Amino acid sequence: MKKELSSSIEQTINTFNEKLASIASLKELESITPQFLGKKGSVTALFQNIKTLSLEEKKIFVPQLNKLKVTIEEAISSKKIALIQSIEKAAELDEQSFDVTAYKPFDGHKGHVHLYTELIEEIENIFISMGYDVWDGPYAETEYYNFTALNIPEDHPARDMYDTLWLNKKGWLLRTHTSTVQIRTMEKQQPPLAGIVPGTVFRHEAVDASHDIQFMQCEGLFVDKNITIAHLFGVAKTFLQKLFNKKELDIRIRPGYFPFVEPGVEIDMRCPFCTTGCSTCKQSCWIEVFPGGMVHPEELRMAGIDPEIYSGFAFGFGLTRLAMIKYGIPDIRLLQSGKISFLKQF
Ligand SMILES: [Zn+2]
Repeated sequence: MKKELSSSIEQTINTFNEKLASIASLKELESITPQFLGKKGSVTALFQNIKTLSLEEKKIFVPQLNKLKVTIEEAISSKKIALIQSIEKAAELDEQSFDVTAYKPFDGHKGHVHLYTELIEEIENIFISMGYDVWDGPYAETEYYNFTALNIPEDHPARDMYDTLWLNKKGWLLRTHTSTVQIRTMEKQQPPLAGIVPGTVFRHEAVDASHDIQFMQCEGLFVDKNITIAHLFGVAKTFLQKLFNKKELDIRIRPGYFPFVEPGVEIDMRCPFCTTGCSTCKQSCWIEVFPGGMVHPEELRMAGIDPEIYSGFAFGFGLTRLAMIKYGIPDIRLLQSGKISFLKQF
């Protein structure tokens, strides 16, 4: 009897601990009390054995049974408190309202200006430091401002140099170059004139890695008395040295043809990225960047400026091309793609 009762007590407490550990709600907890402490519960059944025990045995087992009962009662009560507390905590979290003034610490991901914006600001600052203004003009233009006034009359073969996007309205087009703004400015203002026109231009192109129907150019114009082509070379060299942050950046001049300048030149810069040839300069160490020349006297005359008194130079470089060279961008389409993965790199 002694041995049996002893192992029954041990078994009861083990079973109780196991069941208690698996309980997750108050409802489940309620069902466990009668299983052990109820009239037909296992602890109550053990107490019924007392009457069959001898006095000696009673002295040993009654305190053990009482201890078992108290242990189970206390464990149920502790579990009940723990369950109530977790229910209250969940309810509290549920009730919390959204605080719009809450401060979220900076996680390191912030936006920045687009590459174009950054480059245009840099270019503008360089030219403003040399005394230039920044001019702007319309995208939709007339044939007159895009061609005729730039010394490219109707039926002139040079019109074929530009793959033009014509608009439905007769004689209207999307400007193929920013040179249109030169004319508009000269019509309004007499020299001295110095300005740049960074802006979007449009061409009827098949789109690939180096051609897009929309890209950016920067036009420059300087008109005053006694202006020579040497001034153009000086401005081009100073600008490129500042943009690529190189104190010594050589340029070279080749003849070039553009209908609105005479003479016309192509200005190349020595590759700022290598000394013996690289992929940017196609192993030649020279990069073609800066077409320009002396403003054609006919263009000055048409804009109401006397070419006998004034002369000037003009240039127009591909801003998109310059961005691709400066930042090493392999595909023109990336610049206007709006791809976050691309933009994040800069
Ligand atoms: Zn190179």
